[in-house]
Amino acid sequence: MDDIRIEKIVRSRRRTIALVITPDARLIVRAPARASSALIDEVIREKSGWIRKKIGEMKGRPQAVVHAYEEGEIFWFLGRSYPLHIVDEAGAGIQRTDKLCVSRTSTQEIRTRIQRWYWAEAATEIHSRCMWFSMMTGYSPASVRITDARQRWGSCTSRGGLNFSWRLIQAPLSIVDYVIVHELVHLRQPDHSPKFWGKVEALMPDYKRRREWLRDNERLLRI
Ligand SMILES: [Zn+2]
Repeated sequence: MDDIRIEKIVRSRRRTIALVITPDARLIVRAPARASSALIDEVIREKSGWIRKKIGEMKGRPQAVVHAYEEGEIFWFLGRSYPLHIVDEAGAGIQRTDKLCVSRTSTQEIRTRIQRWYWAEAATEIHSRCMWFSMMTGYSPASVRITDARQRWGSCTSRGGLNFSWRLIQAPLSIVDYVIVHELVHLRQPDHSPKFWGKVEALMPDYKRRREWLRDNERLLRI
């Protein structure tokens, strides 16, 4: 018990106590407005095994990458790793060989170029996968846009448009496909009800495995 630290207690009109472990492995307690601290302690004692396990899991996941944009740093593209290679020849483009080659310039400029490159690659790949799944399913989005979202890999607008973060293009294609199918199904089923998951499963029987990959590796994608 002594090794379990509560980061925050959030009180509200809820009726039961819930424990939440955040992706950065902190414990948040959600409790009814008048729950005593003795009661909260008791719940934590009861669930201490689960809390330790969950915190261990969160700590074991890949941590967010902070890039310095230096030679040899790893960048992910469709699930493959490419070391950054800074070349002396001038030229604004990015070349992807077995490395990600970029001309020598300021760190800020390299960062901008890489993001722009990811964005353009994401637009091409995601549009074409969307078209494919749209043909397969008969669900057609009003528009497909690439965004700068940091956490939401995909989203669906009330007007039937789909948005995808350029960051998603770092993930393997099977994961990109899962996010696309997930959002396409939202066009018909806007919630996360069993009916929604049933439709996703019908189109992608192994969706759980893909969803899990995304959960476990989301921090890898947060560049
Ligand atoms: Zn959803």
